[in-house]
Amino acid sequence: MVGMTTEASRRVLLAAPRGYCAGVDRAVITVEKALEQYGAPVYVRKQIVHNKYVVQTLEKKGAIFVDETEEVPEGSIVIFSAHGVAPVVHEEAGARRLATIDATCPLVTKVHREAVRYADSDYDILLIGHEGHEEVIGTMGEAPERTHLVDGPADVAGLTVRDENKVVWLSQTTLSVDETMETVDALKDRFPNLLSPPSDDICYATQNRQVAIKQIAADADLVIVVGSRNSSNSIRLVEVALQAGAGAAYLVDFADEIDEAWLEGVRTIGVTSGASVPEILVDGVLEWLAARGYGDVQVVTSTEEHIQFSLPKELRRDLRAEATAGETS
Ligand code: SF4
Repeated sequence: MVGMTTEASRRVLLAAPRGYCAGVDRAVITVEKALEQYGAPVYVRKQIVHNKYVVQTLEKKGAIFVDETEEVPEGSIVIFSAHGVAPVVHEEAGARRLATIDATCPLVTKVHREAVRYADSDYDILLIGHEGHEEVIGTMGEAPERTHLVDGPADVAGLTVRDENKVVWLSQTTLSVDETMETVDALKDRFPNLLSPPSDDICYATQNRQVAIKQIAADADLVIVVGSRNSSNSIRLVEVALQAGAGAAYLVDFADEIDEAWLEGVRTIGVTSGASVPEILVDGVLEWLAARGYGDVQVVTSTEEHIQFSLPKELRRDLRAEATAGETS
């Protein structure tokens, strides 16, 4: 029994938008279509997206996830994950005669291009991001000599650049908007001529999910974020919810990770999910909550999303060739 609240007073505020973004949707469909087109196994370097359920589901269909291209048998097909890869990874794959399909999100590719452009113009790049995250490793790999990682304001004092008047900041796509701006402010204090990128690097999906959870967090005694522990944007949602006034906030992969004790005295529960989370996992959480008296679900929509990305060109080419062969046979 959930103490101190009556069922009539309990409710769930469900954030929208939540869950799959266009880059994740594209990456997951890429693996599914590749399996259909070429047959299993298809190798995938790193988790295609940072979600346990998605990875397990694709494994069952015949995808083999590896950490490095050297684990892929020569001549096989390998898909690069949505987080992007450094150019050296493309070279390694070429050396092993691997057929590559690049499922890097176009919004990550945009940051790679910026890094190349500023490095070519002789800038030092201050990349705001989390050390060790795959996306950061990939972006830094575009211009390793020119790029400095800034993992928060505390890193700013220790930076050494070649020319303080030729520095630009870029960022990982899945950071907290507010925290990133704090780091940018610290960078501007240190480098008054710091150049800003022409447009936001934190992607639309990350921003929209943070705005959506902020709208409900202050009214929520508890926020449940569905997402995996290695999902940067999902972890940020927990932090943003707490900063915006949620009584408590937790990250769960599946409904069965919710602790009944979290519900003690709780009337309003906010629910959202990270950009790599399929809706079926949110449904599982809503069912779990409904079974405990939280069946009143109100969707709180902050914005509508209509972005879609076309599949990687290597895959589209083969799918087209197949369709044409089907027409002529
Ligand atoms: S979170 Fe943003 S950058 Fe990452 S895959 Fe989704 S749309 Fe692309």
